[in-house]
Amino acid sequence: MADTSTPRAITCKAAVVWNPSEPLKVEEVQVDPPNSTQVRIKVLYASMCHTDITYWNGYNIGPLFPRILGHEGAGVIESVGEEVKDLKVGDNVMLLYVGECGECSNCASEKTNLCSRYPLLGSDDGTSRIYSKGQRMYRMFSSSTWAEYAVVESNYVVKVDPRMPLSHACLLTCGFTTGYGGVWKALKVEKGSSVAVLGLGAVGLGAVKASQILGASKIFGIDINDTKRDKAIAFGVTDFVNPKHSGKPISQLIQEATGLLFLHTLECNQGVGETLLIGFPPERKVELNLVPMIFGRTLKGTNFGGVKIHSDLPKIIQKCINKEINLGDLITHEVSLADINKGFMEYMKQPNCVKVIIKF
Ligand SMILES: [Zn+2]
Ligand SMILES: [Zn+2]
Repeated sequence: MADTSTPRAITCKAAVVWNPSEPLKVEEVQVDPPNSTQVRIKVLYASMCHTDITYWNGYNIGPLFPRILGHEGAGVIESVGEEVKDLKVGDNVMLLYVGECGECSNCASEKTNLCSRYPLLGSDDGTSRIYSKGQRMYRMFSSSTWAEYAVVESNYVVKVDPRMPLSHACLLTCGFTTGYGGVWKALKVEKGSSVAVLGLGAVGLGAVKASQILGASKIFGIDINDTKRDKAIAFGVTDFVNPKHSGKPISQLIQEATGLLFLHTLECNQGVGETLLIGFPPERKVELNLVPMIFGRTLKGTNFGGVKIHSDLPKIIQKCINKEINLGDLITHEVSLADINKGFMEYMKQPNCVKVIIKF
């Protein structure tokens, strides 16, 4: 019988980016056992996010290659460090990139979800426990989910009720929750509000669903792709707008429709609504006209929608179990690890694509 008390390195497969913007290569990797506060997870599902493309290009992160991408994922705990108390072998879990210690001043505040003890690791600290061809791999954030096994600090891991399919759980680990939380935690949208959501991918549909659940009376979904219409309506959009079919600028369309503002449309904020920036910006700087600001307009930013992973995320999971949220509708494509380049280079660019999941 195998000795499960002393876990050893596991040899398995992972998608490695050896150099920026090169196709991913599925390689044999070695994944070390967890240290005393970590867990090792057999990843069963991962998903793709546009931030993976940003990191793949090497944007703003320094020469951190070779690297294993992926920051959305779910699986089963394979082994735990001796100090880990709240997770055990066999638990279904999600891998997150923000932690929540519950004790630091940030965790005590309702104004942020960025824990100072378990921070968002924008840049890898070189302590990953995964190697290929004798070289240590850099991670993406604190996990790297495009690998058959991942070693993660246990605080970044959230247990999932077994009634929640892991193929759906992985979708809550970045995009959808970011949009959902943006409306719920950051904007705190009130009953009867009008909301306009620009872009109806997973983040946008999360924002739409939260708006619907919180009782927004009008939810304008704006996208330049008509194939998004049916899905958007299924998630709660009351009015689908394709600006390509109108000669008017988006800001004018939103202003006429709502009098309020959501996402990138500071001009039509009117000092009543708020603008929320969600997601990793493709450009680091934009010009900002300060004059409208003195009339009370508000521009906010949020990370992971302001959702605290241990306090708030279980409430979203419960809504999925209750079928108030149907995450399966987000999945438009599925690939195996062997076919990851098809998903990353091809499916992600298709106009109808919302989520590509990797089934291990
Ligand atoms: Zn904390
Ligand atoms: Zn993401």
